[in-house]
Amino acid sequence: MRGNIPLGSLENGFLEGASSIPSHPHRAFMRFALREAVRGFHEGEVPVGAIIVLDGRVIASAHNGCERLCDPTAHAEILALRRACEAVGNYRLNGAKMYVTVEPCLMCVGAIHLARLKEVIYGCREPKGGAFGSLYSVHLDGRLNHKVDVVGGVLEEESTALMRAFFRKLRRSKDGLQGEKRDRLG
Ligand SMILES: [Zn+2]
Repeated sequence: MRGNIPLGSLENGFLEGASSIPSHPHRAFMRFALREAVRGFHEGEVPVGAIIVLDGRVIASAHNGCERLCDPTAHAEILALRRACEAVGNYRLNGAKMYVTVEPCLMCVGAIHLARLKEVIYGCREPKGGAFGSLYSVHLDGRLNHKVDVVGGVLEEESTALMRAFFRKLRRSKDGLQGEKRDRLG
């Protein structure tokens, strides 16, 4: 248990709905991330959107680009981190927050740690690969030298609905069926 976001908060966020989480400028920023996810949806990407906020200002935003860029590392979180670092001219983003519509995977959590983000707020859980509370709880590992505060369940229903719509569409399209895409929230 670390920071001021115990795992209990995470659970409550999911059990009681996003509106039960007390601090809710979160919802406004998450809407921004959701807009990015919708862009990804229309491009045929797994619909995940991420934004980086520093001093209350959005400094970068991105959606998944694995298909478009033919790059397995082109997750929304990674692309948003790259843009944010470029914007501030520093590969450390001390004090910055990330809003991402789906719980980040291990790769993205690694990058989040390397960038020294202060807080990550996510929408829906990713039971098959999420590393902030689902498959792993990296943020609770006291051996790491950087601590990230994590809040889950903000606009969870919207993020889940978008993912489900995407995979439904994918299943309907015989040509579009790709096993690796079904791995996320199928
Ligand atoms: Zn990822």
